[in-house]
Amino acid sequence: LTARLTQLDSHLARYREHGILNLIGGQDVAGSGGSFETRSPVDESLICAVSRSTAADVDAAAKAAKAAFPAWAAMDGAKRKAILHRVADLIEARAEEIALCECWDTGQAWRFMSKAALRGAENFRFFADQAPGARDGQTLRGPGQLNVTSRHPIGPVGVITPWNTPFMLSTWKIAPALAAGCTVVHKPAEFSPLTARILAEICREAGLHDGVLNLVNGFGEDAGRALTEHPDIKAIAFVGESKTGSMIMKQGADTLKLVHFELGGKNPVIVFDDADLERALDAVIFMIYSLNGERCTSSSRLLVQESIAEEFHARLVERVNRIKVGHPLDPATEVGPLIHKVHFDKVLSYVGIGRDEGATCAAGGERIGDKGWFVAPTLFTGATPGMRIAQEEVFGPFLTSIPFRDEAEALAIANDVAYGLTGYLWTNDLTRALTFADRLEAGMIWVNSENVRHLPTPFGGVKASGIGRDGGDWSFDFYMETKNVAFAL
Ligand code: NAD
Repeated sequence: LTARLTQLDSHLARYREHGILNLIGGQDVAGSGGSFETRSPVDESLICAVSRSTAADVDAAAKAAKAAFPAWAAMDGAKRKAILHRVADLIEARAEEIALCECWDTGQAWRFMSKAALRGAENFRFFADQAPGARDGQTLRGPGQLNVTSRHPIGPVGVITPWNTPFMLSTWKIAPALAAGCTVVHKPAEFSPLTARILAEICREAGLHDGVLNLVNGFGEDAGRALTEHPDIKAIAFVGESKTGSMIMKQGADTLKLVHFELGGKNPVIVFDDADLERALDAVIFMIYSLNGERCTSSSRLLVQESIAEEFHARLVERVNRIKVGHPLDPATEVGPLIHKVHFDKVLSYVGIGRDEGATCAAGGERIGDKGWFVAPTLFTGATPGMRIAQEEVFGPFLTSIPFRDEAEALAIANDVAYGLTGYLWTNDLTRALTFADRLEAGMIWVNSENVRHLPTPFGGVKASGIGRDGGDWSFDFYMETKNVAFAL
């Protein structure tokens, strides 16, 4: 731990000196709104100052992205592919630094962040490989016509990201945009600005031309809002809360913004009595307590069949109480501090709400220590579907368990929420798995597995969990327009 802290200190030195600057048109520039502080959730200590951008900075970034667009869009796909692979190489070379900064900035545990940095490189490689063929279309023969379709990058786009696993999520949105030939203005979350700056530096070093990727730091209500309203920005790729998605849709209406939304979730993990309970138990624990539960795909609702509920809960409580909460840079730590006091207060408020609603707090439910935003892994049992702890996204290490009698009741409970991002089914009955998955309102469902991502598959949610899909070729559908040319025969 001491060695990691020393290493981290040396990486942070340059940000302490100048603060985190914006990167606009290839230049490091301070935000015209002054600066704000970013603090570590571990001990509330100051990390550094961060540029606070205004609409004027966003305007400069949008203009830089607009100026850079024609050349980047016209670049041969193979050349774009090579540059984006260089980005991936540099991410790998700085993976340790990225992971250290991410842990310190967000409170996420090292054991997960070291992988998240590498996943960022994988995102770049995956989309880079698709750059040469991204424009390909089809020929469609009609009566007296030969139609030829092709795809074209949409223009400069805005990418707005949240504070949970910020590096991985930024690469997940920025890599396909760049591979498609779009230029980007990125507004990272105000709570976690460190690794977005590292990514921008890496892209510049990899040979991305000035203005192709621009970084504007700042708050959602000014910098974020200005980006969504800017006439030169053709589309907004947004990851964050559902209510922010609604605001962005309204803000972008006057300029007819295209939007791609990855929003919140209240995802069910449904455990039937015929499941492999040992494996289900591992997955239930992993999908809510890893990444501090600050994860859009977390299975925050456990639906467990009545006949096995008592035994399952007993084993769950025993495991939850053994989860190691601690310093995010300690390799033994499984759960670190929550991102910020505001979020910590929100998560703990749900303990009071759950108790008032009559559910049982079977594990956790309190703060750990008196410094930093540590919350004990929490489990509520005996919840009913209408309770707020069963309906609302808590976004912390907080699991709500609801018993069910049979398949029909499980399905009704599972679908009875505003969200529809993921679902996890545990059963060895194949017919049940197929029919249940078919009726479950979710964009992504895993059967007898936790969330294991295969990048060519579609990622996204239904209902209040999002609009659009990422992954595979779906990302290109968003960042590119399809054109049809009809030749008379
Ligand atoms: P948030 O919506 O508060 O903020 C996300 C980003 O939006 C930040 O950069 C913020 O500054 C910006 N923003 C805020 N108001 C804005 C406005 N009016 N205009 C433009 N931008 C604005 O979300 P958060 O608290 O940072 O992140 C947690 C949420 O993100 C959770 O709901 C989680 O489920 C969701 N999430 C979803 C996915 C997914 O793939 N579906 C992935 C990760 C996180």
